[in-house]
Amino acid sequence: MRYLSTRALNADDAKPFCDILLEGLAADGGLYLPETYPQVSAETLEQWRELLATEGYAALAARVIGLFIDDIPADDLARLTAAAYTGPKFSDPQIVPVSRIGAGPLWLGHLSNGPTAAFKDMAMQLLGELMEYELSRRGSWMTIVGATSGDTGSSAEYALRGRDGIAVVMLTPAGRMTPFQQAQMFSLSDPNIVNVAVEGVFDDCQDLVKAVHTDAAFKATYHLGAVNSINWARLVAQVVYYFCCWLRVTDGPGQEISFAVPTGNFGDICAGHIARAMGLPIRRLILATNENDVLDEFFRTGVYRPRGPEQTWATSSPSMDISKASNFERFIADLYGRDGARVRELFGAVAGGGFFDISGTPEFEAVRTGYGFVSGSSTHADRVATIGRLWREHGILIDPHTADGVKVAEQYVADEPVVVLETALPVKFAETITEAIGEPPPTPERFAHIEEGPRRVVDLPNDVDALKQLIVGTVESLPSLVR
Ligand SMILES: *Cc1c(COP(=O)(O)O)cnc(C)c1O
Repeated sequence: MRYLSTRALNADDAKPFCDILLEGLAADGGLYLPETYPQVSAETLEQWRELLATEGYAALAARVIGLFIDDIPADDLARLTAAAYTGPKFSDPQIVPVSRIGAGPLWLGHLSNGPTAAFKDMAMQLLGELMEYELSRRGSWMTIVGATSGDTGSSAEYALRGRDGIAVVMLTPAGRMTPFQQAQMFSLSDPNIVNVAVEGVFDDCQDLVKAVHTDAAFKATYHLGAVNSINWARLVAQVVYYFCCWLRVTDGPGQEISFAVPTGNFGDICAGHIARAMGLPIRRLILATNENDVLDEFFRTGVYRPRGPEQTWATSSPSMDISKASNFERFIADLYGRDGARVRELFGAVAGGGFFDISGTPEFEAVRTGYGFVSGSSTHADRVATIGRLWREHGILIDPHTADGVKVAEQYVADEPVVVLETALPVKFAETITEAIGEPPPTPERFAHIEEGPRRVVDLPNDVDALKQLIVGTVESLPSLVR
């Protein structure tokens, strides 16, 4: 299996999995896609049903992901998935359990049992294993420099802590994360994890990260890398739980189910699109946004119009507060039959601050009829009402992002079961939960003492040279780097 950029798609440039694993974005600004999607037959699915029941999630992950990778031996890959998807990192031995909401058509697919209680762990834990494996095989090392306002950064840190050949320098806006998020990150004591509190807001952090990554000489000397949401390895790890949820909800071949997915950067639901393209019997992919509804707008109207920062609202489902959907280009490439020139044209218009409009075209017609997408959005009032109702009627407590998914799923209920992907645990969003049910969410035992204990964080002025100095010092202090 080889990989091509969404913008070039020239077969001569195709690369193996482990090259694009370490690379992230393609040189032409596009995103990597496999040349084709491997097809999974009904018989294979039934074998996997048996495999999941006897050997568990990690074994299923090795099979699904193995279809996309031919430059890692199968035994090694099985070892890596076993290390990624295991207790106590994941609090539930099933890794991704499902549960039914009452006796109705809606189910929850639980993706938040990882170390940071958010679904990002599903991808990051495997990415950490894969990166350490490949860097060691190449005798190389990497310095991950990123910015976070919450979930992604802490998930990356928990996936990369203590790993050989990898350092993490993570920028956060000083004083602007929730106490829980701060505690989660700043309580890590591993020498290869460096938390930085920048005097400024999240955009300042992102600008600093961009400045060091665009200094080509500095980037080469200090082996700078990233683990952002466009990394193909993160996406392929997410494909697995669609298979897992289907296997857990159905009991025989050919049964169709739908998924409702709280969506920000189009990563989570893009993995569902890929699972469906592989032959998994998914009837509909129900995309749910919050008030930042740029994707709901596209799926309703055919107009994709990214927003500026002044039109991006801070909501009570903050991990979905996006202005543009960084993974969306992958779906558009598939929709246009991998026509790289067309993708370049469409996203060229967007990059210039514009939009594209494919309403009235056969391609837009196919979004619904051929690819099964429908969409909806929700508001703060919807989230609070949905959380309160599920709590009162079923004794089930969900987080605000999952509530966006449930609300939109209810608009589309038909005959088939609908799995709403649960993307975070309520404990992370105490304020909204308290508003909805009149009391704070329970704290799972493993997070009980997180806000006590010492903290490690470096204060940094909003200054590129100061950041460079910090990176140099970090690299020089770690014996497993610079080998
Ligand atoms: C990242 C995130 C999302 C959005 O996922 P995308 O892959 O960006 O669409 C939804 N909910 C939570 C809790 C998240 O952390």
